[in-house]
Amino acid sequence: MISDNVRALLSRLPETNPFGEKITLVAATKTRTADEINEAIGAGITDIGENKVQEFRDKYDLVHGANRHFIGHLQTNKVKYLIGKTYLYHSVDRDELAQEIAVRSCRAGIVSDILIQVNIGCEESKGGYALAETPAAYETLSRTQGLRVRGLMAMLPLSDDTALLSRLCDEMRALYDALRERDGNISFLSMGMSGDWELCVNHGANMIRLGTAIFGQRDYSHHN
Ligand SMILES: *Cc1c(COP(=O)(O)O)cnc(C)c1O
Repeated sequence: MISDNVRALLSRLPETNPFGEKITLVAATKTRTADEINEAIGAGITDIGENKVQEFRDKYDLVHGANRHFIGHLQTNKVKYLIGKTYLYHSVDRDELAQEIAVRSCRAGIVSDILIQVNIGCEESKGGYALAETPAAYETLSRTQGLRVRGLMAMLPLSDDTALLSRLCDEMRALYDALRERDGNISFLSMGMSGDWELCVNHGANMIRLGTAIFGQRDYSHHN
């Protein structure tokens, strides 16, 4: 079923977004076993994203053949477990976190690829920079040793108001384009989950993060 879901998704996913950019599908693997994740990889998934450091670590050696993204809220004191193992940090939502990734990356002699998380819906429950603060955050983070800013990430509010969601995506895309014009490293706009990915892709996302659409409904009862 997982492999059927992956194949069905990959056949529905357009080759490119309306901006002519290739779309990267990241499987959101929270609560999923290594076997389930490996099945998805076997069916064509190339990139996976974890939300929790513990799960990232537990599954790290058991999962094979995919780029490892970190997509969840990240506590500063847990950054050390991810350094050198993370293909892309999607959820850099505050300066303190960025600085910790930077310092640890320099110490390890590497540069870490990050996205700046934008709280596009201005939601209390979500992390991220306000849209208006993001250009200044970009200025700082793009000049920080040990970091390479690759783009922006957002989670849309839960809503069925497509006009609103479209407008928020367009605002993200406009900022993304403005950064990209000046900085050749900018190449990812990570936006879109199982419920809203088509809208996000149509409005310029080039990286989507899907859990439920690949693995089915999550069951949190076995987790603490
Ligand atoms: C869980 C999660 C997703 C995927 O959510 P689905 O609705 O299951 O597709 C995407 N992004 C983040 C940050 C997540 O935590």
